[in-house]
Amino acid sequence: MSHTVSTPILDLLATILSGDAPTLPSIYTAAGGTPAAGGETFDSHDPSTGRLIARLARGRAEDAERAVASATAALPSWRDMVPQDRGQMLMRLAEVLEAHSDLLARLETMDMGKPLSAARGDMRGCVGGLRYNAGWADKLQGITVPLGPDFVDYAELEPLGVTVHITPWNYPLGMAMRSAAPALAAGCTVILKPAEQSSLTTLAFAELCRVAGLPAGVVTCVTGFGAEAGAALTDHPGIDGITFTGSVATGRRIGEAAGRNLKPVVLELGGKNPILIFDDADIDAAVEVVLDGAFDNCGQVCSSVSRVVLQRGIHDAFLDRLVDAAKGVTVAPGMEDAMIGPLVSAEQHAKVMSHIESARTNGARLLLGGGRPAGLEDGWFVAPTIFADVDPASAIASEETFGPVITAFAFDTEEEALALANRLTYGLVAGVFTKDIDRALRLSRSIRAGSVWINGWFIGGLQAPTGGTRDSGVGRERGEAGIMNYVALKNIGIRIRR
Ligand code: NAP
Repeated sequence: MSHTVSTPILDLLATILSGDAPTLPSIYTAAGGTPAAGGETFDSHDPSTGRLIARLARGRAEDAERAVASATAALPSWRDMVPQDRGQMLMRLAEVLEAHSDLLARLETMDMGKPLSAARGDMRGCVGGLRYNAGWADKLQGITVPLGPDFVDYAELEPLGVTVHITPWNYPLGMAMRSAAPALAAGCTVILKPAEQSSLTTLAFAELCRVAGLPAGVVTCVTGFGAEAGAALTDHPGIDGITFTGSVATGRRIGEAAGRNLKPVVLELGGKNPILIFDDADIDAAVEVVLDGAFDNCGQVCSSVSRVVLQRGIHDAFLDRLVDAAKGVTVAPGMEDAMIGPLVSAEQHAKVMSHIESARTNGARLLLGGGRPAGLEDGWFVAPTIFADVDPASAIASEETFGPVITAFAFDTEEEALALANRLTYGLVAGVFTKDIDRALRLSRSIRAGSVWINGWFIGGLQAPTGGTRDSGVGRERGEAGIMNYVALKNIGIRIRR
């Protein structure tokens, strides 16, 4: 096990935990941290209190340019490293990350608001993701092609090159690691652009890559706003691939940039995920699953349970039990480690509250919550909220809320349930709760989603592919599919006889 180390950037980050609000650099040169070229900064706040916790470098086109130059210069040595050595270096990075996971988890909680134990879980996931992908570094075998006795033909998997990773704020380091780890294992260099609301752990990660001995420029981080730093990176002609995790609207813009420049792109976007619960389901298990699926990370999960679609026979009893259970969900600042913390920002709070208001105006029946929890006047808190009798055509039933809000619907037949599940253009995740295996498998084929989870939620892991269909995205991450995003097949044909 590695020990924690002290570097100027890590020390500055640590001062945040004792109440300071330091000015932090971006990290995009061999020398490590530097201010943005224009000298500008932007503010980051603690969502539990609204307190200013850091000022970060506001990167723009010139900073993106320098990051791409650094990543391009670093590419040959990283790409050509003996794959086993590259894997070992990533294992070493995982050790360094693990040694600093307490600092990282606390920073994540302070920056993004999630409960500390959830942030600690995220850090374990990041370390595990690095180790899993490090194992791929020396296992990327190509193919040999049988062209007959006159030829030798084979195809190698070569690294894509300089890759840009634009990430959201809900799992800041988790989402960065989901794509950066396979990219690094494949031999690509990585430029990270974290969400402006929650950049601290991504900055720390870039610094820890230096600590672990990765060559300078292999991992760089440009902090700043999407329309400035993000767009400059995704539009840059010198990059070789983009992975974007975020909203559908931004995903479309990034898809357009990738199309203009003919770059491969992975788009991991939003969802409005339904769970279909049939009369024969194990109700206790289903209540537990909906509670966790809807309120984990304060509902700020792309794969949150959002639409609870209940067969008529259990509809009322299920909602009674769900409301009872949801009354026990504790809400508090992330550092107090309740079950849920605040939403990430004032903007997100306003968006969730406007969805709640629109549901009320549309005649949905409020069963629980609907506003700020008592005693939490500061920060961006919303109480766990449940609506029944929701009009399927209303905004709360159709648009991603990304907060602790459940909408419930009733159905009679399997066909109606399927129609409700498929009525939106999202297609990220769907769930089916039933003891009828034929029905579960039938629906798993008919529901239009990248993942279908049966009698559970958040099923998956580092090895299982994840991603959306339709408006929820393009491409898959995790597992073998995840690493294949960062390699290209190169065919080599040799004529050995005329
Ligand atoms: P977002 O507003 O789309 O932002 C995501 C990232 O894109 C941020 O870093 C943002 O920078 C950047 N960005 C914004 N405009 C850009 C542009 N024109 N060019 C390049 N980059 C740009 O999403 P979010 O609100 O942070 O995240 C929540 C969304 O992410 C939800 O819709 C959620 O479902 C989705 N999500 C999906 C998955 C999945 O696996 N499918 C996982 C997690 C989250 P700024 O922060 O500075 O604006």
